[in-house]
Amino acid sequence: MQVNNHQLSDITFVPSPNFDSRPSDEISLVVIHAISLPLGNYDTSLIRDLFTNNLKIDLHPSFQDLKDLRVSSHLLITRIGEIIQFVPFNLRAWHAGISSYEGRENCNDFSIGIELEGCDHEIFTAEQYHALNQILRTLADEYAITRENIVGHSDIAPGRKTDPGPFFMWNKIKL
Ligand SMILES: [Zn+2]
Repeated sequence: MQVNNHQLSDITFVPSPNFDSRPSDEISLVVIHAISLPLGNYDTSLIRDLFTNNLKIDLHPSFQDLKDLRVSSHLLITRIGEIIQFVPFNLRAWHAGISSYEGRENCNDFSIGIELEGCDHEIFTAEQYHALNQILRTLADEYAITRENIVGHSDIAPGRKTDPGPFFMWNKIKL
């Protein structure tokens, strides 16, 4: 796996309109998330729809809360370990929201967001950990990322966010 022009090679790229420029070229944090739409269901096409502003809000009552939400992540890892990129790494994806890391606010400014298709009440798949580790090794080669700079969304937005949740096994990260 390689990074070319701030995109992973040989994976699906689905451009999201939900990004802007970073305030500097610093990329020094990876934020791990979990997402499922609706909660606990694994229909990757709906996540793609959310990140491209195409989600049909009337498909599920819980989607009302997502109306007019403009979000994205750099990467999504599906349940079968497929990797989809939505935003090139040099641009700012909108995944962290109100957040703070070691006293610094607005973690989107300097982080890469990786969504795992999953939720707070189910384990992640072996294929997902495999893909995640491949990605992290590639990012560590390309950017200022070490094991210490990999956090969960719940670490930078405590009380507001719980993902990637209690079933994410941090000891499966091999970096
Ligand atoms: Zn999250």
